[in-house]
Amino acid sequence: MTDYDLVVIGAGPAGLTAGIYAGRSRLKTLVIEMMMPGGQAAITHLIENYPGVEPMAGSELAGRMQEQMESFGAELTSDTVTSIRHEGGHFTIERGGGTTTARAVIVASGTGYRKLGVPGEEEFAGRGVSYCATCDGPFYRGKEVAVVGGGDSALQESLYLTGLVEKVHLIHRRDEFRAVPVLAERVRAHEKIECICSHTVERIEGSGTGVERLILAPVGEGEKRILEVPGVFLFVGLKPRTEFLGDLIEKNEWGFLAVGEDTKTKTPGLCAAGDCRDKILRQIATAVGDGATAVHVVERFLDDGEW
Ligand code: NAP
Repeated sequence: MTDYDLVVIGAGPAGLTAGIYAGRSRLKTLVIEMMMPGGQAAITHLIENYPGVEPMAGSELAGRMQEQMESFGAELTSDTVTSIRHEGGHFTIERGGGTTTARAVIVASGTGYRKLGVPGEEEFAGRGVSYCATCDGPFYRGKEVAVVGGGDSALQESLYLTGLVEKVHLIHRRDEFRAVPVLAERVRAHEKIECICSHTVERIEGSGTGVERLILAPVGEGEKRILEVPGVFLFVGLKPRTEFLGDLIEKNEWGFLAVGEDTKTKTPGLCAAGDCRDKILRQIATAVGDGATAVHVVERFLDDGEW
């Protein structure tokens, strides 16, 4: 007898959707989240591409998903999973708060921030270096800040920051943005955003009080540039949270779980869903699809052992 039919690791959109589907299917389900429900979506200022839902803060959308999940009876707990073992036909999940057993597991542990890896980043983390505009943007009301990156995150969060700060210096290493054209157009047209393209941050400098300036280097020929700002927001991509799995699930070279669209791993009863999986598009819309698929697969496994 196990503690739960299903344990879901991570309460981002994939994990919360898995919880909704599992709860509706009357599986005894525990969802374990180490930070806040909603994952990356919860710290995204504005979600405007989730079908059928008016533009809203990611935290609000995540809150709605959580309520919906809990209304169907799935439990949510705050804890950090340190390892998973598969033995005796069930899974043993080790976490800070103890040991939990389950007949099936869905890993939906998402991603964390990729570091830029320049001098000053570690030293000034939390003192001017930030990875979350909604969390730290309000500290810079009326001031100038820098944002680094050229993807959806960097551009979306630059636009958000314009509502708070005097000016955003958007630093990107290429001339073209990776972000979707609609965001690139808005950013290029915004009077409070100055795009500093084809430049990288060489180092972040400051003093005891925090960040004071960035040293920018041109890509190719040209002079270095000094940018005086008290804050810099880094959005240079995402890193999967999959270390705790050891080699239980095969990974690709970047650590994303090598699991296809059916979400099945090689271990019967073990699925991987959402951003932690090797996939071509990491969006809320694709994460919720994974969560639903994983529960469908798990149900069939629990019913008749199909894998
Ligand atoms: P991303 O798409 O991987 O973009 C990372 C950006 O950082 C790229 O522009 C990259 O430059 C730059 N970069 C990477 N390493 C760098 C380095 N060492 N120095 C300087 N620049 C560096 O990451 P993301 O923007 O966080 O987005 C991740 C996923 O979430 C994407 O699938 C995105 O679509 C999704 N997302 C969606 C939304 C939305 O739909 N509203 C919002 C946020 C995120 P290059 O372009 O030169 O490689």
